[in-house]
Amino acid sequence: MPSKYSRLSAKKLAVTRTERSIERPVDIQGNLLKVSEYYGENVFHFSTATGIPESVKEELQQVSTLGSHLKKEHAEIVAKAVTEWAIAKGATHFCHWFQPLTGTTAEKHDAFLDFEDDRPIEKLSATQLLQGEPDASSFPNGGCRSTFEARGYTSWDLTSPMFLLDGANGKTLCIPTAFVSYYGDALDIKTPLLRSVTILDDLATEFMNLIGFKNTKKVTVTCGAEQEYFLIDKSFYFARPDLVMTGRTLLGSLSHKNQQLDDHYFGRIPGRVLACMEEIDFELHKLGIPAKTRHNEVAPGQFELAQIFRDANVAADNNQLVMATIKDVAEKHDFISLLHEKPFAGVNGSGKHLNWSMATDEGLNLLEPGKEPHSNMRFLAVTAIVIEAVYRRAKLLRMAIASQGNDHRLGANEAPPSIISVFTGTNLEEIFKSIKDGENFSPTGEVTLDLGAHQLANLMMDNTDRNRTSPFAFTGNKFEFRAVGSTQSIGFPLSILNSAVAEVFSESIDFLKSEIKGDSSKDIDTALMKLTKKLLKNSWSVVFNGDGYSDDWLKEAKKRGLPNLKTTADALPVLLDTEQTKYLVESKIFKQTELDMRYNVLVERYNTLREIEFTTLVGLVEKNVLPCSLEYKTKLGGVIKLQKDIGLESSVEVELYKKMNFACETLYSNLMTFKNTIANMPEDEKVRSVEIANTIYPISEQVAKACSDIEDLVPNDLWQLPTYYEMLFLR
Ligand code: ADP
Ligand code: MG
Repeated sequence: MPSKYSRLSAKKLAVTRTERSIERPVDIQGNLLKVSEYYGENVFHFSTATGIPESVKEELQQVSTLGSHLKKEHAEIVAKAVTEWAIAKGATHFCHWFQPLTGTTAEKHDAFLDFEDDRPIEKLSATQLLQGEPDASSFPNGGCRSTFEARGYTSWDLTSPMFLLDGANGKTLCIPTAFVSYYGDALDIKTPLLRSVTILDDLATEFMNLIGFKNTKKVTVTCGAEQEYFLIDKSFYFARPDLVMTGRTLLGSLSHKNQQLDDHYFGRIPGRVLACMEEIDFELHKLGIPAKTRHNEVAPGQFELAQIFRDANVAADNNQLVMATIKDVAEKHDFISLLHEKPFAGVNGSGKHLNWSMATDEGLNLLEPGKEPHSNMRFLAVTAIVIEAVYRRAKLLRMAIASQGNDHRLGANEAPPSIISVFTGTNLEEIFKSIKDGENFSPTGEVTLDLGAHQLANLMMDNTDRNRTSPFAFTGNKFEFRAVGSTQSIGFPLSILNSAVAEVFSESIDFLKSEIKGDSSKDIDTALMKLTKKLLKNSWSVVFNGDGYSDDWLKEAKKRGLPNLKTTADALPVLLDTEQTKYLVESKIFKQTELDMRYNVLVERYNTLREIEFTTLVGLVEKNVLPCSLEYKTKLGGVIKLQKDIGLESSVEVELYKKMNFACETLYSNLMTFKNTIANMPEDEKVRSVEIANTIYPISEQVAKACSDIEDLVPNDLWQLPTYYEMLFLR
């Protein structure tokens, strides 16, 4: 339990810490190695590995790109090669690394140690590489199975490279895997993601072939996630039970200087933070994760890391490792990283911008505006397909980013609203509008954009990043899904987005086929134009280039009939809405049982996390805020009595006392209402989630507000919890 002493000593510690430096690798002459020389040293690439014959490498390549089946004897060769590689690097254990529905990652380590003729040896068999059998009953399954049929399987995903996890005293080989139940139901985030990229690949490839790109063999989903996070000194963290228990401050008076000056964004990175970022990048680069950008974010104490985009499945695995690495390295620097969407009220929260596009095996980005009119038609049609997908599956996309943490951000004037709309930028809007309205293809008015012009990309790039208020923005040659929460695994929103786009691709292919009726000499551009027009006409209401934070937009969106699912409790039931989910099931990206399971897991998770917040808040009020208020009142009362004894008036003291008394009474009565509602929560998880979102959470905010009022009144030396000022500014 924190005491005033721990707050004081935390402050002392925080301001006297020194920067941690690490030893960067050097060559034999002692010169520092370049990043390119150690990049990926902890990753096993079968393409460059020794001990794997070229023919097997080719087969592996085929399996990972075209999804064919791997022969067991070839798996044996890989298992042997990776074991030798890992052991030479000091590994003692291996594990199947997977992403259960907790949103984090799971690993169960096994030693390489085995016996051959009673002799100890190191070994990883093909079976151990290909398949694991963790006890599935301890992972969330949404009531999918009972514990007595707890069998679950992990299965090697050879499209995501194996890597070494560095411990202080050894290394572990991590094998990325999918995690499914005995009946093949996906118990993880990766499996549906893999299904979604496969289906999108098939459809987008067919689409490309149909419109004249005969050589396209494969279309991959590309993704680059920007990760935001806070860093605070470790000592403050441990003196704040709310941070430890819930990842966010449940109460706290705003410091006087917070972010009004806008001086933190892109500002000079504090030395101790930079040292930490350098080590984070170093670790990520060794893991073959292309960390690229690092900078201060808008709020004090808030930072960002972005990596170079790559194939979506690997990007999703990478982002899990990015979050884990930020956490681990931060602690070595005596920081704690807060990945929560809203660790502090009153300053910006954290999100994760999901940059998303599709690229062919020949390297063509489908969302690249391009130079030739022909490729522009491809660009316009594909962009219209994405817009239609977002329009049609706005509810599913909103659901996919729903969490109790993200509820604090969405619609809170610092992040996109919970209304899903698409930002195109004005240039593209003009072009699309003319297509939709059947006007001449070339844009009108002062926009003198030649569609075939080289400037198009530049112009649009310059013009498109201005709108930070859009949840889904076109930024030059990709879309940016900006409403994703900072803690969440990107795999789930990616699966939903991919599925939504696949659905529209599928219909577009049918449409194009019926337009050209098997006669490939028919003008495909005319058919594409017709498709683009049709899609845009249908989805135009989702296009919005104005200020997403404004009240006008709320009204306008309502008029347009766009859904506005304000809270997680509103958003999660979309999983049970068969009109919304029918394509997910038909396309086999999710089975119905998997959707039901996800609903159950997510709603339970929402409720549990909120309940932990509620009980933690009650504890803070009873153990910290109220006792400290009473202490202050006792002090004031003593002075008042003393002055009365010697015949002095105490107008100031009495005034302060009254204020304290009022604040205490307010807090106490809010607390009583709060405790009462918590004690009488409905049993049913769904009903409970609605009650929590609409009734109990707002009461908890009133309790928090009453605490902040008290924090403002009591003297600094009596207040026990580290303050916003200390946590955000002292390091
Ligand atoms: P912006 O400043 O508009 O956000 P950046 O070039 O800084 O653009 O890119 C931000 C993120 O977008 C990076 O992670 C980057 O790798 C990623 N990105 C760039 N191009 C693509 C693409 N074609 N597909 C997916 N992600 C991309
Ligand atoms: Mg960006």
